[in-house]
Amino acid sequence: MAERGLVNALSLIADVPDYPKPGILFKDITPLLADGPAFGLVVDALANSITSLPQKIDALVAIESRGFILGGALCRALNTGFVTVRKPGKLPRDVHRKDYQLEYGFDALEMHRGLLTKGKVVVIVDDVLATGGTVLACQELVDMSGAKTAAHLFLLEISQLNGREAIQRAKPGIEVISLLRA
Ligand code: AMP
Repeated sequence: MAERGLVNALSLIADVPDYPKPGILFKDITPLLADGPAFGLVVDALANSITSLPQKIDALVAIESRGFILGGALCRALNTGFVTVRKPGKLPRDVHRKDYQLEYGFDALEMHRGLLTKGKVVVIVDDVLATGGTVLACQELVDMSGAKTAAHLFLLEISQLNGREAIQRAKPGIEVISLLRA
């Protein structure tokens, strides 16, 4: 019953062809977020996958900006801390910074120093896993902090872009969990 509800909830994710550029099939989660019961089912399912992990999780690390929506709701459900990873120039204090390559060009992510320390265990959360570049850059920030990552958690994974394989190659031992493989 709950499984069927979850499948229906995930079916609200809309495909937008050729956005933001030709050839990209954008996965738009906003119709799902706008539906209260569907959003609730998805948050419950993500929360269950975190509580099923063998480790106790101290904090969720979420990536600007759609990751914040899921991460915030999950932290409330699980009573964990929330650590923001943002685009450059948004965080006011000393940061860890990771520059990384996109399909075309470069980008960077930053995380405040001192929020995570050795001995802490985190889960990194984002909406969509595509090539894996973003979550791996985020993982480097967690590595710089000394904390350990139990899992990378996504609503949806675009299988043909092989992000799961990229993570497993770069960071064997970190679980990759997604509710839906498209
Ligand atoms: P990647 O680094 O290639 O794994 O891309 C993942 C990041 O880009 C996530 O923060 C996603 O929100 C966003 N993203 C990449 N591709 C898509 C897509 N086809 N639809 C929606 N979001 C995407």
